[in-house]
Amino acid sequence: MAKKQFKAESKKLLDMMINSIYTNKEIFLRELISNASDAIDKLYFLSLTDKKIKVKKDDLAIWIIPDKENRTLKITDNGIGMTKVELEDNLGTIAKSGSELFKENNDKSKDLSIIGQFGVGFYSAFMVSAKVEVLSKSINSDEAYLWTSTGADGYTIEESKKKTNGTEITLYLKDNTEDTDYDSLLEDYRLEGIVTKYSNYIKYPIKMNHMHDDKKEEHTINSMIPIWKKKQSEVTDEEYNNFYTDKFYDYEKPLKVIRSEVEGLTSYQTLLFIPSHTPFNYYTKEYEKGLELYSKGVMIMDKCPDLLPDYYSFVKGLVDSEDIALNISRETMQQDHQVALIAKNIETKIHKELLTMLKENRPDYEKFYQAFGMGLKHGIYTSYGANRDKLEDLLMFYSSKDEKYVTLDEYLERMKSDQKEIYYASGESIANIKMLPQVDMVLDQGYEVLYLTEYLDEFVIKILNTYKEKTFQNVTDKSFDNSTEEEKANIEKINNDNKDLLAKMTEILKDQVKEIKFTNKLKDHPVCLTSSGELSLEMEKIINSMPAETDKVKADTILEINDKHPISKKIKKLYKDENTEELTKYTKVLYNQARLLSGLNVDNPSELTDLICDMIAK
Ligand code: ADP
Repeated sequence: MAKKQFKAESKKLLDMMINSIYTNKEIFLRELISNASDAIDKLYFLSLTDKKIKVKKDDLAIWIIPDKENRTLKITDNGIGMTKVELEDNLGTIAKSGSELFKENNDKSKDLSIIGQFGVGFYSAFMVSAKVEVLSKSINSDEAYLWTSTGADGYTIEESKKKTNGTEITLYLKDNTEDTDYDSLLEDYRLEGIVTKYSNYIKYPIKMNHMHDDKKEEHTINSMIPIWKKKQSEVTDEEYNNFYTDKFYDYEKPLKVIRSEVEGLTSYQTLLFIPSHTPFNYYTKEYEKGLELYSKGVMIMDKCPDLLPDYYSFVKGLVDSEDIALNISRETMQQDHQVALIAKNIETKIHKELLTMLKENRPDYEKFYQAFGMGLKHGIYTSYGANRDKLEDLLMFYSSKDEKYVTLDEYLERMKSDQKEIYYASGESIANIKMLPQVDMVLDQGYEVLYLTEYLDEFVIKILNTYKEKTFQNVTDKSFDNSTEEEKANIEKINNDNKDLLAKMTEILKDQVKEIKFTNKLKDHPVCLTSSGELSLEMEKIINSMPAETDKVKADTILEINDKHPISKKIKKLYKDENTEELTKYTKVLYNQARLLSGLNVDNPSELTDLICDMIAK
């Protein structure tokens, strides 16, 4: 019998399949099962309009039949089947979707690995088969035909025998190679694994035979009705939890389950989970965000990144939409209107659910925030504030009030009537921040201060700049001053009167500080450091500790001396007595004390300890 040649494009794709270096060969089964399911769909719909066609719903099924002896794997269905012409048209030419994929792929690159992410269709059978037979009998015909191909050299179609309508595909597996154990495709556990992974929710039973006590027993592998298609009231918390832990390999149940169903131009169901702890690799490059994407019960992508914004990358779960094409790819997805719409809705939904959790279940929200709050801050920081509207109401910071997390709204609600700004201070730990002299003073005056302890905190605050029209104010910044007009005038006079002393001291510390002045901002402490400009001392510390090759940065540092402290009197006297030697020592000691109070290192510890010893020995 003469061999027929595949159409040109089909042949090229076929070559790619046969020689595929793609490692995820197991997806061929998903493709064949999905074709079988479509064929049963078609028969079923036909039976609804054509009274001559009788279908017993319960009999509709797909079979998987491994045969170790002959090294074949059969996939059969009792669907609509194919006539001779259909066999020729459908399997001799590549299906539309496939050929489009091929053109696209050929234009861009020869990257075979992307193939597996498309709906590659029937030809994927050649990834695992040396020969493929398709025996089919159409519901509209009395004759059956056998299509046979070993791949590249074409195919034959001959008359054959088959009792009932449907299609029986026989794969003659390739010989094992060093890399691939094709025999494993004949093992029940492997087949069941592949089916439950990709085709669990196909709506017809996928059956296999098992030997049990020497008797053949029929067994349905797939669960058919996905949990997200069941009525909400019919699914227990435990079922959701088990589904989550099994599917996403977590040992802890999720913090929150979010389900939604949307009917409209684009209809879809979502089932989302917020994990209760940070995955071990969450803050590494290895972590991949994404949701599973299903179309008509078939999984078409297992980590679809386009469905989630980066700052919600902790969300696990899936989307099922009948309106998304099986052959959508990672590339075409980015332009897909429907995917974009679903993604937008998902984002809104997650935001809403998090706000509800914040309002109604504070302990859970704090747990969530501990685990994933950093990602939210990142979302604001990396977008330079563009995403602030979607995220700022979810933020929390430690606060001097009970040393607990508070939201910015909570802070605003409690603000003292005379307070115009949101006060914060940053440092390595709450203990460190509380030690800052300026913080001490502000707390003493009865204000609430946000304690920024995470490295990103202050950068985020700088980007936000305001929250609900209130400006953020670092209490260790030079610009911070909540004293009265009278107090201001007072301290200005003191600074003026001691201009020469301060100039002298600034000269002594010329490389270290920009300015030295007397202050009324301190309660008991003798000195503090403040900074002026965009860069705070804490930011200086963080930036300089980063392993980047960039130049070190330096905040504009100001040494402030408590005018009410006895030390002020002392230095004024030293200056008056023209005791420059002692004044130099005092200045250096005071500066280094201020550094220590700010959690900074001392540049020259041995000089400092010598100075102190000198002074106390007197
Ligand atoms: P696609 O499914 O994307 O159309 P395929 O290459 O998988 O592409 O299949 C080509 C065509 O062959 C299908 O559209 C269908 O008409 C037909 N076909 C494949 N498998 C079967 C089957 N089991 N029963 C009936 N028709 C089938």
